[in-house]
Amino acid sequence: MNFQLDFDLSTVALKYGFDDVRVVDLTSKDILSTLTESFNGYLKKNLYGDMSYLENKIHFLKKPELILPDAKRAIFVYLNYIPRQSKNDWLTEEKNKLSDPQQAYVSVYARGRDYHKVLKKKLNSFGSELSRKLDVFNYRACVDSAPVFEVELASRAGLGWRGKNTLLLRRAEGSFFFLGALLTDCPLTPTFNVTEDRCGSCSACLDICPTKAFIGPYKLNASRCISYLTIEHKGIIDESLRTLIGNRIYGCDDCQLVCPWNSFAKLASVEDFDVRNGLDGESLLTFFSWSESEFKQRHSGSAILRLGYERWLRNISIGIGNSASSQNLEKNGEYCSRAIFLLKKRISEPFHILRPHAEWALDKFKQNGLVG
Ligand code: SF4
Ligand code: SF4
Repeated sequence: MNFQLDFDLSTVALKYGFDDVRVVDLTSKDILSTLTESFNGYLKKNLYGDMSYLENKIHFLKKPELILPDAKRAIFVYLNYIPRQSKNDWLTEEKNKLSDPQQAYVSVYARGRDYHKVLKKKLNSFGSELSRKLDVFNYRACVDSAPVFEVELASRAGLGWRGKNTLLLRRAEGSFFFLGALLTDCPLTPTFNVTEDRCGSCSACLDICPTKAFIGPYKLNASRCISYLTIEHKGIIDESLRTLIGNRIYGCDDCQLVCPWNSFAKLASVEDFDVRNGLDGESLLTFFSWSESEFKQRHSGSAILRLGYERWLRNISIGIGNSASSQNLEKNGEYCSRAIFLLKKRISEPFHILRPHAEWALDKFKQNGLVG
């Protein structure tokens, strides 16, 4: 039996910055069995790298009640995250940053405050208002609980469609938004207006991917994805992938930047996602020279803090190594000598994961005749 609200859910959601709100039935056998099947297939094909935490999250699908007792529905909302100060031609600017080998590229979503905290806080306030209005409403806020399948569920709820790049897309916003869910035991009436897939014959995201991480439309091999490699992967990054990473030191936006629907992407409405610490255009060497305490202080409140100092340096050293093959580098002696100085310094420090990457980077300078 569905529970009819005597108020408009969208109006309440809007108060917390959520422009749209959709409800999916977690008790629907059809939905859960399809999701579990595709999740199991994903795990079996070993497409998730060392994100073993995903295996633990299968209970989100099999038993959502482990997250919230008697969970019946998931209420999906989204929050745009492109920093408010971005210019009209921000998409072009982002692409230009990727072609400047001495600049560090940090994924747009990670340039402001930690979205987990921002979104969870808003979701909890939203949930709390709903529970005040309703007698029967327990809830639990979920952000990134099982990312791959949140997209699937949100698309089933009609919030958008799952694009060939595996992200949720909306006709009027593209994909630069965070997705959040409230699990609830209240049997709200589900929304059924599933959005039509508007990818059509486009394959721009599949073609642009630097590491060829898509094994087909809608299918990602996460273990080759730069977002996974630079954020989730804890150890040594395979040499064959390092050159392909370019100057991307935290995440990758290529398959979003190229998506035609992102010409409609909207700027964030909240200051939380404003750029901090030059994360939208600082040089690799500046970031590489930060001390550990500087790293912790500057990334306080940011999702990047969870990466840890050594992996931060690991990622930057790959970018610096890739900058060695830049055609203009011979003319930039100052950059070269500073890069070589910093790499040698880092190699002498007790960083076991960083060291092979920094040695590899130094080797790139040698191969290009830039080390005397
Ligand atoms: S985020 Fe980057 S590496 Fe990952 S699939 Fe998209 S384009 Fe490829
Ligand atoms: S780039 Fe094209 S194929 Fe990829 S998600 Fe966007 S519209 Fe779909």
